[in-house]
Amino acid sequence: MKMKTILVTGASRGIGKEVALRFAAEGYHVFLNANRSIDTLEEVKKLIQSKYNTNCTLVPGDVSNPSDVHQMFHKISEVSRGLDVLVNNAGIAYMGLLTDMTDEEWDRIIQTNLSSVFYCCRSALPYMVSQKSGRIINISSMWGTVGASCEVAYSAAKSGIHGFTRALAKELAPSNIQVNALACGVIDTAMNDLLCEEDKIALAEEIPAGRFATPEEVAELVWQTANAPTYMTGQIIGIDGGFI
Ligand code: NAP
Repeated sequence: MKMKTILVTGASRGIGKEVALRFAAEGYHVFLNANRSIDTLEEVKKLIQSKYNTNCTLVPGDVSNPSDVHQMFHKISEVSRGLDVLVNNAGIAYMGLLTDMTDEEWDRIIQTNLSSVFYCCRSALPYMVSQKSGRIINISSMWGTVGASCEVAYSAAKSGIHGFTRALAKELAPSNIQVNALACGVIDTAMNDLLCEEDKIALAEEIPAGRFATPEEVAELVWQTANAPTYMTGQIIGIDGGFI
């Protein structure tokens, strides 16, 4: 049987790394992407190969840059005919008043969190459409649903992912390709290192579940979403401990 393939963007740490490990454990050929932390990405590859003895290929690049994404998919096509699963996970946060934000900062947040999803889907789709199957899972945020003060650009980008997901799901349902998004609450990763310990404790107290989620919990939901009945598409699935 043909080995299944997955591309995980932003796989050097946090949620992306755990998603890569989860699918590697099931025997997938994992394509690992990150932009700057290539040494860490190499370590994830070594970990996967030693633990699961499955194929793993690095496709470094900046997903906010369409020519980098083009090159990443060129590399994927040299190794495999295409992807069975695409997890658009790479993302960055920005905290601050909207009035203090520069044009460059705004563009960087929108390009990295939202345009990257367009670039990767556009490249992944020809193969998925030709084989009439595929799963796209976009890692989004509860702030895309309800908005966060001092995170307007990030909230707008994640809201954009929600609209993108719902619309693309309709476009691709006739081709038997499912497109869903996970609206994550607070997940215990380096992304929250901009908060001090005191703020982290206060934030955890606001969450009905009383804690941050682990990246492994999100990875498990990605796995289950990729294996859900094909009739489930266009959904924004919350994983937020009851926060919103
Ligand atoms: P993280 O630990 O900071 O990891 C982010 C990953 O994205 C890294 O591998 C990073 O690698 C990569 N990345 C960033 N910019 C990139 C670019 N331009 N091109 C390619 N890769 C890039 O963050 P995380 O918490 O795991 O977040 C993963 C996703 O979950 C993001 O979309 C985030 O918005 C979402 N999310 C997180 C939380 C949370 O509380 N942690 C909550 C809601 C949603 P490089 O540094 O090498 O580029």
